[in-house]
Amino acid sequence: MTDRPVAIVTGGAGGIGQATSRRLAEDGALVVLADIDEAAAKAVADALMAGWVAGGAAGGDRRVEPAALDVTDPASVQRLVDDLVARFGRIDILVNNAGFPRDAPLTKMTDAEFRSVLDVCLFGSFACARAVAPVMIEHQYGRIVNMASRAYLGNPGQANYSAAKAGVVGLTKALAKELGRHNITVNAVAPGIIETDAVRAHPKYDLLTSLAHKQNSIRRLGSPEDVADAIAYLASARASFLTGDVLHVSGGRFS
Ligand code: NAD
Repeated sequence: MTDRPVAIVTGGAGGIGQATSRRLAEDGALVVLADIDEAAAKAVADALMAGWVAGGAAGGDRRVEPAALDVTDPASVQRLVDDLVARFGRIDILVNNAGFPRDAPLTKMTDAEFRSVLDVCLFGSFACARAVAPVMIEHQYGRIVNMASRAYLGNPGQANYSAAKAGVVGLTKALAKELGRHNITVNAVAPGIIETDAVRAHPKYDLLTSLAHKQNSIRRLGSPEDVADAIAYLASARASFLTGDVLHVSGGRFS
C-alpha cells in the first residue's frame, strides 16, 4: 500500500512516455512505466532512478518502476491493474500514451496498417480506461489523460492515424461524461510534431523542421517535456474542473 498517487504511463519507454514518467515522478507520483518492450521499460526506469540517486537528496524518494504491458491485449491490461491494486491499493492516474503511426497513401494502405494503428491508439486507450475505471470509481477519484495528436484534424497519408486519434478525442469526451460523477476527469493532449529520437532519425527530419517553422506560431518542433508538462497538469489534483477537453501542444498549429 502507498500514500502516493499511483500513475500508469503506457508506452512509457518511448520519447514522450519517458518524459511524462519523469515529470509525474518529480511531482510525487509512484509511476509505473508500462511498455510492450519490457527490456526497454526496465532500461528507461533504471536510468531514471539512477539519475535521481546520483542527483542526491532531492531525487531520493522519486520512484518509477517498469512493467510489461500490451495495451491491445485486455488480459495483459487486467494483469497489470490487478497487480497494482494488490500491491498499492490504488491507481490515481492513467496516461494512455502508447501508439504509433503507419503512414501510407489511402490506395496503398493495407488492412494490417489500418487495423494495427486503431488497435494500439484507440482500442488500447479504451481497454486501459475500462480496466482502471472500477478502481478509480471505488476511490471516487481519477485522472485519465489520453494521447491524441494534432493529426486528429486530418493529415494526408494518415487515414489510419488521423481516424484513430479522432476516435481518441471522441472516447475522451464520452468517458468524461460517463465518469465525471465519480470525480474522474478525462482529457486529451493533441501534440504537434515532437522532437523524439524517432522524429530526429526520420528521413524527412529537415522538411518536418522547416514545416514547423512555417506552420507553427512558436517556430520550433515541440519537445517531449512540452507534452509531459501539459499531461502533468491534466493529471494533477489541481485540474479538478477540467474534463472532456483537448489541450493542443502544437506551438499554435490548429489546422
Ligand atoms: P515512441 O515510438 O517513442 O513511443 C511509443 C511507445 O509505445 C514505444 O516505447 C513502444 O514500445 C510502445 N508501444 C507500442 N505498442 C504498444 C502496445 N501494444 N502496448 C504498450 N506499449 C506499446 O513514440 P512517441 O513519439 O513517444 O509517441 C507517444 C505517443 O504520442 C503516441 O501515441 C503518438 O501517437 C503520440 N504523438 C507523438 C507525436 C510525435 O511527434 N512524436 C505527436 C503527436 C502524438
